[in-house]
Amino acid sequence: MVARVIPVDPFDLVIFGATGDLARRKILPALCRRFGEGQMPEGARIIGAARSEMSRDDFIEMVSQAFDEFLGAQAPDAAQRAAFFERLDYVAIDAMGDDGWTTLAGQMREDVVRAFYFSVAPSLFGPLAANLGKFRMITPQTRIVVEKPFGNDLQTARALNHTLAEFFDETQIYRIDHYLGKETVQNLMAVRFANIFFEPLWNARFVDHVQITVAETVGVGGRGPYYDKSGAMRDMVQNHLMQLLCLMAMEPPYKFDPDAVRDEKLKVIHALDPVAPADVVRGQYAAGPETASFADEVENANTATESYIALKVGISNWRWKGTPFYLRTGKRLRSRVSEIAVAFRDPPHSIFGEDAPWKANLLVIRLQPDEGMTLKVMIKEPGPGGMRLKNVALDMSFAEALGDDLHIPDAYERLIMDVIRGNQTLFMRGDEVEAAWAWTDPIIAAWQGSADKPAMYDPGSSGPDEALKLIHMDNRSWREIR
Ligand code: NAP
Repeated sequence: MVARVIPVDPFDLVIFGATGDLARRKILPALCRRFGEGQMPEGARIIGAARSEMSRDDFIEMVSQAFDEFLGAQAPDAAQRAAFFERLDYVAIDAMGDDGWTTLAGQMREDVVRAFYFSVAPSLFGPLAANLGKFRMITPQTRIVVEKPFGNDLQTARALNHTLAEFFDETQIYRIDHYLGKETVQNLMAVRFANIFFEPLWNARFVDHVQITVAETVGVGGRGPYYDKSGAMRDMVQNHLMQLLCLMAMEPPYKFDPDAVRDEKLKVIHALDPVAPADVVRGQYAAGPETASFADEVENANTATESYIALKVGISNWRWKGTPFYLRTGKRLRSRVSEIAVAFRDPPHSIFGEDAPWKANLLVIRLQPDEGMTLKVMIKEPGPGGMRLKNVALDMSFAEALGDDLHIPDAYERLIMDVIRGNQTLFMRGDEVEAAWAWTDPIIAAWQGSADKPAMYDPGSSGPDEALKLIHMDNRSWREIR
C-alpha cells in the first residue's frame, strides 16, 4: 500500500543546532525521506545553522556522512542525495550573540512559510527567540519548533512559555513530543474514534484497569550527566507516557482539530489525582556482566535519580473514577516494548459455572515493535464432552494488514511536515505542558524530601520487585515484558 503524498507549500526551514546529534540522526534524514517521497515542492529550502564555521560543502559532507551512519541500508543513493543537497545551505551563527544573524536574515524569503527548528540546548530557546525578534525575522508565516525538554518543572516551563510569548503567538509555537508523531500513537485515536464498538466499553464500568508500558533495553549511554538531573519521571512520564494516557482517557473531541483535541487532553490532565508516595516505585539498574551500573554511567556514586518508574494513577472524572492506570517505564529492561493494555472487567455472571477457567478480555495496542493490536477473547475449546473455555488472541499486525511494502514514516517526518502545513494537532499546547508539570512536580518533590532511594534491579529484568508489589496489592499483575 502506497501512502498518499500531498506536497506542502514552499518553505524556508532553518535548523538551529544542525551539526548536533538530533539533527544528524533524525531531522535531516526525515527531511531527505520526505524529499524522496515528493513532498517538498520546488522552492523548499533547508538552512543548517550552528556556531561551527563551515562552508556549504562541508555541511553537505557532514549530512552525507550522517545518512551513511544512521540510515544504513535505507540511506539514499547518490542521485537522491545530490537532488536533496541542492536544497541545503549553511550559516554559522551564535544563538547567544550577534554573529551570523544578518547573513541569515538576508537569506530569508518574504512570501513563504518560515520554520525555525530549535534543535539546541533548552538554555538557548530564549536567546534564539529574542534574536529572531531583534533581527526582524518573524513574519505572520513564521513558526518555531521547540524540542524537549520543555522546562524541567512548572516554574521553568512557565518562564519559557512566557519568553516565547513575547515574540510568538501560540499558533506559531510547535512543542515537539515525538511520541505524538508515531503512526501507532495516532492510531490510538483512529481505533477509539473511528470504530463504534470500543467507545461504549471505554469507561470504568467495563474497564478494570489500564497498563501503559514503555520499556527500553538501552542504558543512559552518553546522556549520563544530563539524565542524572532528569530521571525517568521528567524524561518519559511527564511527556510521552502522559500523552499516551491522555489519548487513551480523553473524551471524543468534537472534531479532529488541534484545539479540540488538545482541549480534551488538557481536561484529562486536570482530572488526574495527586499520586501518593505509596503508589510510586522508583528503580535504578545495577551493573550486569557486561554493562555498567546506572550510578557508574551517570558518574555519580550517590545518585538518587530513577532509571525506572512505576506509578498507579487515578482519574477523577465520570468516565474513569475507579479504574486505575498503571504506568511504567525504564531503561536496561528485558526488551524494547511500548504498549497499552486495556484489561476489561469480568462478565457479571458466568453461565458456565464458577469453575470455568475464566480470563477477562484484554485489548493490547502495541506501539513498538511490530505495531498492531491483540484482543484476547474466550472461545470454546474444540472437541466433544463438556463446555471447556479457552482464552485466545485475535492478533493483528498493522504491517501484515496493510501490506509488507508499507513504509511507516518516522515520527519526525510526519511532525516536520505538519509544521510546514501549519497543523498543531500533534504538538503540545503551552497550557497542556504546564498542567503536566503541575501534576508531576509534587510527585518529584515528595521523594526529593525523603531519604528513600530507588530500588535496584538487574539489567535485562522487568524492573524492581517493588513494582510487582505495587500492582499485586490490587490483586492485579503486570503484563510480562518479553
Ligand atoms: P547536541 O548534539 O549537543 O547539539 C547541539 C547543537 O547546538 C550543535 O549543533 C551545536 O553546534 C549547537 N549550538 C550549541 N551552542 C550554540 C550556540 N550558542 N549557537 C548556535 N548553535 C549552538 O544536542 P542534540 O542531542 O542534538 O539535542 C538538541 C536538542 O534536542 C536538545 O534540546 C535536546 O534535549 C533535544 N533532544 C535531543 C534528542 C536526541 O536524541 N539527541 C532527543 C530528544 C530531544 P555548535 O557547537 O557548532 O554551535
